[in-house]
Amino acid sequence: MPVMWTVKVVGLGVVALSLSLELLIWLIRRLRPGRALNEVLFFPSEIACVEHIFTPPSPYSCVCSLPHGVETSFSRLLRHLLSATSSLDLCVFAFSNMDLCRAVLVLHSRGVTVRVLTDKDYAAITGSQIGVLRKAGICVRCDVGSVYMHHKFAVVDDQLLITGSLNWTLTAVQSNMENVLITKEPELVRPFIKEFHRLWLHNDPARYLSSVDQKLAHVFTRASD
Ligand SMILES: [Zn+2]
Repeated sequence: MPVMWTVKVVGLGVVALSLSLELLIWLIRRLRPGRALNEVLFFPSEIACVEHIFTPPSPYSCVCSLPHGVETSFSRLLRHLLSATSSLDLCVFAFSNMDLCRAVLVLHSRGVTVRVLTDKDYAAITGSQIGVLRKAGICVRCDVGSVYMHHKFAVVDDQLLITGSLNWTLTAVQSNMENVLITKEPELVRPFIKEFHRLWLHNDPARYLSSVDQKLAHVFTRASD
């Protein structure tokens, strides 16, 4: 009987210890600096100059006619994007906004690894900045599926997710009612990293071209039979 009692006490002790450890890990994660970033932006954005975001620290040196020194939804979006130090994975249906294009080019010039996944139909329309990105040497892949690649999300440094209804166009930023959620919650960021990785591999031109080559080889083989 005392032996059984001892076993029960030890068992309860082990359970209590493991629960305490889990609680401690949870608390450490909650209190970790930088984790708590959660922000929601609504559009249309107030129209203001964003030059100071690209060329700090001279916030008022620009002489354009737009309001200066005004923080807007769009300037917040740009700041989050430009916070990238190692990588930017961008998955967006429509990309024609020149300020956003400039931000991506700035990141590329800083040595940030930029990957862009977009829709093949929209990439070809007038005003699309996809060609500009490609010319700058940024790795771009177009979704080759039969349905629209309608995502609008970006993952910065594998830890910051920017997602919502906003296409990367001037109309969406300045005229439409849109929302953007910005978060560092790992439970939300992780699935987007996984989805980007899946789509990136799925739309690898080498894979796509090799399947086309295989089909052509099959056709030629049949023709020569
Ligand atoms: Zn200005």
